[in-house]
Amino acid sequence: MNTVESDKRHGWHPFTQMADWCAPEHEPLVLVEGSGAFVRDSAGREYIDGNSSIWTNIHGHRHPRLDAALKAQIDRVAHTSFLGFTNPPAAQLAAELCALWPGGKLSRCFLTDDGSTAIEVALKMAAQFRQLVGQPRKQRLVAFGGAYHGDTMGAASLGGIPLFHDRFAAWQFPVTHIQSLEELSSIDAAEVSAVCIEPLIQGAAGMRLWPAGMLAALREWCDANDVLLIADEVMTGFGRTGTMFACEREGVVPDFVALAKGLTGGYLPLAATLTTERVFEAFLGGPDRTLYYGHSYCGNQLGCAVALENLAIFREECVLDSLAAKIAHLSSLLKEFENAHGIIATRQCGFVAGIDVKPSGPLTGARVCVAARKHGLLTRPIRDTVVLMPPYCITEEQLGTCARAIAKAVIEVCKNR
Ligand SMILES: *Cc1c(COP(=O)(O)O)cnc(C)c1O
Repeated sequence: MNTVESDKRHGWHPFTQMADWCAPEHEPLVLVEGSGAFVRDSAGREYIDGNSSIWTNIHGHRHPRLDAALKAQIDRVAHTSFLGFTNPPAAQLAAELCALWPGGKLSRCFLTDDGSTAIEVALKMAAQFRQLVGQPRKQRLVAFGGAYHGDTMGAASLGGIPLFHDRFAAWQFPVTHIQSLEELSSIDAAEVSAVCIEPLIQGAAGMRLWPAGMLAALREWCDANDVLLIADEVMTGFGRTGTMFACEREGVVPDFVALAKGLTGGYLPLAATLTTERVFEAFLGGPDRTLYYGHSYCGNQLGCAVALENLAIFREECVLDSLAAKIAHLSSLLKEFENAHGIIATRQCGFVAGIDVKPSGPLTGARVCVAARKHGLLTRPIRDTVVLMPPYCITEEQLGTCARAIAKAVIEVCKNR
């Protein structure tokens, strides 16, 4: 069986209606190679990786330093248990991640596998923390409408996207969903353990920006009401919004931060949940205070070695400085979309752009993205919002190619209606 045959017969893809996927007329792209901002398919066609391989890639594919770090680690060992043992890259990564946050306030790092598990640990830590410090009434979680925090049950309980989350309502943790900060005043904070937010921008909601100052105001409310703040920086972390972390933009340090997607530069599944010494200290004592949580691949050495190299690239190659010019260039390209045919609105937060296309028949956004492939761009929409968030190594010229591909694709899709 070739790749497509065995995939269609035995595979099951995330967030995918498999009847459509397996239909004879559907020809899935088989991606076989990548280099810098490009990926290549099995027919030898090249595309710009316009959504950074689902928001994970940072410095481009096959970055020489990340490749070398992975190879060097594999010559030592790939994985050893973090349960009962430690290892050099995991211990160093914990220290370096904590050091990226001001004032030494986030001092503890729990390593897992992906964004969902990074959130899941924060929820378990928050729940047990309240029991340990004698606040058993404080168990409710607060999350926002439109939120996406992952697909494991706890993380999904926080989710505020009806199509994804409503059918699992019966299995949900006690979560109150609010649309805006104003609604906090109607909540009994004496019952609230933690609030979870995607800082600055909600990704899966369609690249929706929060009003400026909102995050800082939420931090203030949490402080005033003894509520823990969980910042989900799974998408925004590692420079995506222009600063290393989105929280920096409003001078906020959360009580928990979840990091994943870009942590290994988009190479390997690895995640981190950072928290404060205050939370950590509550768990010290006898076995009844232990955090009973873990995964087989916690502290994976390959992932940690690549993550360390990712951080070294940020430090030594002045990534954020050179990204600033590209963010400005992206703004000017989005400006040109203002009067473009079939485009209703654009939004930008750092190196993330959402481009709303005018609905023109079913699945307009998806059809625009398929049409854009012919013009050399690979990306995925969120409903009718086309996402553009390429690896940071993309050149201004290649960014222009992305914008032209979207503009042409929109015209083609609207014209055919
Ligand atoms: C992708 C994402 C997650 C889930 O991460 P996974 O690695 O897919 O489990 C959680 N939160 C945000 C904001 C995300 O973008």
